[in-house]
Amino acid sequence: MALLPILTAPDPRLKKKSKPVEAVDDDVRRLMDDMLETMYAAPGIGLAAPQIGVLKRVIVLDIDREDVKTGPLFMANPEVVEASDEDVSYEEGCLSVPDHYSDVVRPAEVTVRFLDRDGKQQDMKCEGLLATCVQHEIDHLDGILFIDHISALKRNMILRKLLKARKEKERDEAEGRPADKAKDPEHAL
Ligand code: ZN
Repeated sequence: MALLPILTAPDPRLKKKSKPVEAVDDDVRRLMDDMLETMYAAPGIGLAAPQIGVLKRVIVLDIDREDVKTGPLFMANPEVVEASDEDVSYEEGCLSVPDHYSDVVRPAEVTVRFLDRDGKQQDMKCEGLLATCVQHEIDHLDGILFIDHISALKRNMILRKLLKARKEKERDEAEGRPADKAKDPEHAL
């Protein structure tokens, strides 16, 4: 397994639409395992392949809270096949938008269809944080970030701060200071 660098906005690769995988073969399983390890190390609770620069429709999740424990979930070609009329608002964050959080409104419950790590098709009913997280990760596969769901004013402010933070990080790295971990892993999707 390998730890892979996570892209941060604004990076053009995060705005691209990812391609479905033809089958869950050993290469896709290796990608899933690398993504899971990278997500745990960040640390985060969800990661989509484009966040590590691979434009394939693959996501991994692992939510471990008192009320929701999913264990590691691997999904290839995930799609929402059913969504509730009822919406819910959750303060989202993203490993590709470090240290910024914003309320995003999404359907409260969704059924997601995907191929699991063995290539078997599954339908999974998701609610609560899992529903939010799955929709956030599927958005990544379509080149959509959570900041695309908020006002342009707030989005542009966040993007400006990210560019500034990136320059500071590059300076820190040049001077040999270690990179920061996610400050709020509960929200790092
Ligand atoms: Zn994200």
